[in-house]
Amino acid sequence: NNEELYCIGCGAKIQSDDPKQPGYTPVSAIKKGLENDELYCQRCFRLRHYNEVSDVSLTDDDFLALLNQIGSADALIVNVIDVFDFNGSLIPGIHRFVGNNPVLMVANKEDLLPRSLKRSKLKDWVRQRANAEGIHPVDVIMTSATKQHALEELLKAIEKYREGRDVYVVGVTNVGKSTLINQIIKRSTGMQDLITTSRFPGTTLDKIEIPLDDGRMIVDTPGIIHKDQMAHYLSAKELRLATPQKEIRPKVYQLAGGQTLFFGGLARFDLITGPSTRNGVVVYMENNLQIHRTKLEKADAFFVRHQGELLQPPTTGELSDFPPMERFEFKVREKSDIVFEGLGWVTVKSGSIVAGYAPKGVGVLRRKAMI
Ligand code: GDP
Repeated sequence: NNEELYCIGCGAKIQSDDPKQPGYTPVSAIKKGLENDELYCQRCFRLRHYNEVSDVSLTDDDFLALLNQIGSADALIVNVIDVFDFNGSLIPGIHRFVGNNPVLMVANKEDLLPRSLKRSKLKDWVRQRANAEGIHPVDVIMTSATKQHALEELLKAIEKYREGRDVYVVGVTNVGKSTLINQIIKRSTGMQDLITTSRFPGTTLDKIEIPLDDGRMIVDTPGIIHKDQMAHYLSAKELRLATPQKEIRPKVYQLAGGQTLFFGGLARFDLITGPSTRNGVVVYMENNLQIHRTKLEKADAFFVRHQGELLQPPTTGELSDFPPMERFEFKVREKSDIVFEGLGWVTVKSGSIVAGYAPKGVGVLRRKAMI
């Protein structure tokens, strides 16, 4: 039939004519995909099943070759993540393709965190989260690529851990990998002229190589698109409204049990019961994000009535692309942060029962309070 079908992984138009072009899917796979309501092009299907990577910035099967190349290289892997969005920063299946290579974690965008937050605590948390994903980083360095924090420390760590090997810099899009690479290039004075953009052998993926003194190099790999990022549900403009642009100023709300906070139309926090009649909860999110307080019992109706208008972003025009909210409930037995991945967090006291809502696919989780 003439119906136009699109891959739910990369958005390419599905076609069965040319295996070399984006969206190629064998006819049999289209049928199966439609039956399961999960139509992926062949490339995305393979990525999901062999590496579980949902998408890449370039539409080509060759991405697998890149992962294989990294796996078989003897190299230091530098994995850049957004300290604000650990889940959204993860390269699914990374532990499998790094092989036996050491991983140095770079937790970027440190400048967004309030000064009162102990960096060492967050480092420990990043390490724990990495361990839970099967990655055991040799070190975690917290950087700000834009504010140029800890870049010398990073370069020193790279030098220390690479032990004469090549360095592969990997990361999903939006974590600040390009900004970081540009800073590394600037700091390696005189090297600007030597930078080469080449392609991974046998692939169409561009890579940037920064030569090192001993004939080795730092290789910048293409950004991998991770679909569970708030970033993919919002337009560029709305993303700026929703994600922190500057150091966060914490906001305190005195809530009674049975009260709700809406963060624009993006997320929601319910204090179901608290240890006291009034409970201070502290919100760490983009300073200009509109926060609305309602009664919990009226919150569902309030959301339906005001989503896209009073409660935005997203705006009415963008609601059709916005996934439904998913609810997570927590019994809080120690002072905790309820983390909305990519948005920020709410610190609550021990003895609270709370719920967090975020667009389906974006995680809400609890961690021991950082402050
Ligand atoms: P890439 O897709 O990983 O290469 O990310 P980019 O380097 O393009 O950065 C994505 C966005 O994050 C841009 O808006 C950058 O300005 C911003 N960004 C990058 N590094 C930092 C940082 O250290 N702090 C802050 N606050 N923003 C950053």
